[in-house]
Amino acid sequence: MADEKTVLIGKCGPTVMLPKQGSRVVPLRQTAPLRVDVAGGGPVGLAFACTIKSLLGEQVSVRVHDRRWMRQGNRVVWKGLAEGNNRREQVVTLQSNVWASLPVAVQERLFAPGKFSEMWPLGPDSPASKGRPRNIKIRWIEDCLLDMAQDVYGIEVVPGAYTPPARFDGLHVLAIADGARSATRAAFSSQFGTPSRELFSVDGSPLDERVLGIRVTAKSPDEHTVPLTVAQNRFLFNSLGGGFINMRLTAEEASEIVALGESGPVSCIGKFGCTMRPASNGRFVCDRHRAVFKPSVDKLSYLWPRILDGLRFFGVGVADVVGINSFTLGMQQMSKFTAQLAPSTFGFLLGDAANSLHFWPGRGLNTGLKSALSLAVNLQKRWRGKAFRAADFAQHEGIMQQLQYREKSRAWTTMLMPDSEGTPRGIEDRIREGLQGPADRAALVKTLFERVLDIKKRMGDRMGPLATDEWYYGRVNALDTRTLKVLVESGAWITREIGGEEVEVPSAAPAATAPEPVRRGLSLVS
Ligand SMILES: Cc1cc2nc3c(=O)[nH]c(=O)nc-3n(C[C@H](O)[C@H](O)[C@H](O)COP(=O)(O)OP(=O)(O)OC[C@H]3O[C@@H](n4cnc5c(N)ncnc54)[C@H](O)[C@@H]3O)c2cc1C
Repeated sequence: MADEKTVLIGKCGPTVMLPKQGSRVVPLRQTAPLRVDVAGGGPVGLAFACTIKSLLGEQVSVRVHDRRWMRQGNRVVWKGLAEGNNRREQVVTLQSNVWASLPVAVQERLFAPGKFSEMWPLGPDSPASKGRPRNIKIRWIEDCLLDMAQDVYGIEVVPGAYTPPARFDGLHVLAIADGARSATRAAFSSQFGTPSRELFSVDGSPLDERVLGIRVTAKSPDEHTVPLTVAQNRFLFNSLGGGFINMRLTAEEASEIVALGESGPVSCIGKFGCTMRPASNGRFVCDRHRAVFKPSVDKLSYLWPRILDGLRFFGVGVADVVGINSFTLGMQQMSKFTAQLAPSTFGFLLGDAANSLHFWPGRGLNTGLKSALSLAVNLQKRWRGKAFRAADFAQHEGIMQQLQYREKSRAWTTMLMPDSEGTPRGIEDRIREGLQGPADRAALVKTLFERVLDIKKRMGDRMGPLATDEWYYGRVNALDTRTLKVLVESGAWITREIGGEEVEVPSAAPAATAPEPVRRGLSLVS
């Protein structure tokens, strides 16, 4: 704190020395603060806002807009179901290179006891010196950051959609973080270019995958299920005392994702992000449209028994399901992430608005937070109290291009799923192959069980205790023969192909003084 006799200054920018009567001579800032607007207050937009404020303090004035907020008294809060906002319940995994680079106050708030777990092992983006990846609920991240923006950082938070102004009127930075379908990015397409799907197509058609997200309460410790997830590519369970079992579907299975209203199918799940919740008689119903999830009532459904088998694999039952939703995943290439929008205004794409990824390798939010850290640190380094030039952002743009290359290559490889010869054999082919032809149950149980044990062994002691071999045998042997065949055909995670060096970004936290003692362990990826 400054005493009454001193005049405070910031960290950078031109300064003058002003004598003050009866006081020390201290430098005084001459310039107005850096002015930053953020379109979209999801986890990335808010993390960026809090980070730049923690780095520049009074030197920056930040305003964030989000259409999922509303005013309540003198605060801004998240809209709820009553206001038509389905809060996201996903559990995400943050790598330690990312969480340990956030401002310390943010880390302390996010990682309160009971609010995170360490389920996944160390790896190149979670080195032993920083710690294991951490599972955390996306909703908790959003709640903490919106509170911190208001209570700790004095950021102006504005409920409502962001609309690009006719003139920027002295704004220096527009951070565009309004998600994968960014309307703000589209409004500035002449500066950023139009995203292209060409590179993420097969035989000229963009590749989209349909996924079911089955939210469950878990019965086993989070990390017990890791070897089951890594042994196949049909189901992925990311948990924090419960979470989503994600299930990749074929086009035929996806065609079963229908919501039935009183007089037939209605637009609901898959289209509006609706969640189907358990209701009477084993049905799953949408709270908004009152429509029924067809597979849950259709005795002829092919998909429903396969969903139930996925639950069984992870040791949960239909009574543990709290919601079902569905989404489509595809990728597109951006040509640039930084653009001059007006003589003194630069725009930056961040988070999913910049790089929306297939979530299987769990890197979407990590990549978004890396982009936010990179921009915040770049702005801190370059702000000198006067208009920026394009050259000021060469480093940040370079990191964005590296992230795009690294993360989209990883996600695309996961979508194409090369076989042992390197020939692409996508998930649909593999699932179809599993569902057809003769099946030798004993051989399938043996193959999948051996795979699980091998992964369990590879993880060694760099995770908490895993379940007994008998428990894993029970999980594998509980499956229907067809599901077993699908899981075997889907293959174990291609950890070698998608592993390797990660993109490093500058940290907004002070360098750790004494790294934790290194607990050596194997990496899931290499
Ligand atoms: C099933 C699933 C599992 C995942 N698991 C992981 C994981 O394990 N690890 C990981 O790193 N990532 C994971 N991800 C990805 C992660 O959820 C996203 O990358 C992350 O939410 C992106 O954050 P964001 O802030 O960029 O965008 P969003 O979360 O989409 O936020 C955008 C915000 O902008 C607001 N908005 C939109 N338009 C406007 C507008 N015009 N004006 C104002 N506001 C607007 C929205 O209301 C929203 O709050 C997963 C994703 C899915 C679907």
